Amino acid sequence: MGTLALAIHGGCGVMAKLDLSEEEWAAARVDLGRALKAGWDVLTSGGAALDAVEAAVVVMEDSPHFNAGYGAALNTEGRHELDASIMDGRTLEAGAVTLVRRIRNPVKAARKIMEHGDALLLGGPAADAFAEQAGLAMVEPDYFTTERRTKALAAMKAHAAAGTAAKASEAEKHGTVGAVALDGEGHLAAATSTGGYNNKPDGRIGDTPIIGAGTYARDGACAVSGTGKGEYFMRYAVGHEVASRIAYLGESLEAAAAKVIQHDLKQHDVGAGLVAVGADGSITAPYNTDGMFRGWVTPEGDFYVATHAQVFHIQPE
Ligand code: ASP
Repeated sequence: MGTLALAIHGGCGVMAKLDLSEEEWAAARVDLGRALKAGWDVLTSGGAALDAVEAAVVVMEDSPHFNAGYGAALNTEGRHELDASIMDGRTLEAGAVTLVRRIRNPVKAARKIMEHGDALLLGGPAADAFAEQAGLAMVEPDYFTTERRTKALAAMKAHAAAGTAAKASEAEKHGTVGAVALDGEGHLAAATSTGGYNNKPDGRIGDTPIIGAGTYARDGACAVSGTGKGEYFMRYAVGHEVASRIAYLGESLEAAAAKVIQHDLKQHDVGAGLVAVGADGSITAPYNTDGMFRGWVTPEGDFYVATHAQVFHIQPE
């Protein structure tokens, strides 16, 4: 078996330490560890990178600590409209859903769409219906609602009324989850899932379901999953841009990702981060905000999770 690697994120932002209690930060780190373990177990048992990223994202979608699946953000109408995508770096096949309201794990629907093969991206009620027909678990829309997101929506509406929306804390605004992996056969994959940002316009679609923007994987180059203001990730085609810098300029994974996050997006004052894995198993997780929920497993099997600058070496449970 060749080199294995896995990295995940659970969104970036200002993440003021006082916004959450120590217990809540710790609980989020535990769920990052569980997501890593789910993905790593797939890789170490000879599974595909595609299965590993899906497994890791499902754990974070089911966790209330991240803005995807259970615990997703609410839009201006107080509704959840969820986006997700997945990409196989081996074949360049991809699948995505947007504006879905009833699929418990949107990343699983993205995978089913990819396998079905007719369309790459399905949206709205048709995507919900596709998932139901495919036998995926369906829920009532209020399944996704948590007290934290209801409060965040109220806070964002108050900011909007006072004309201070731009100053709202990043935690009030957005978040996303994602995973990237390299498997023992040398194949790369990426997956991303989000509720978008709090108080987003009804019908707004971000970068997460857009292949080449929020999610991208190509064998020989890299796999990328992003978090931050989706409009800019689309304008810079971030995932594809990182892969292109590696392929065309010969840049390292770290240099290519840093250029996009610390220069291209930062110059617009856009809070952004990503996780990426290279064809050689290199891992990078840059962000230009105060923190990013993130974690990775090195090719040696060492597990790391972090929310801010401090990185914790953990033992998977
Ligand atoms: N990228 C996501 C979106 O724009 C949100 C985020 O990651 O914060 O929908």
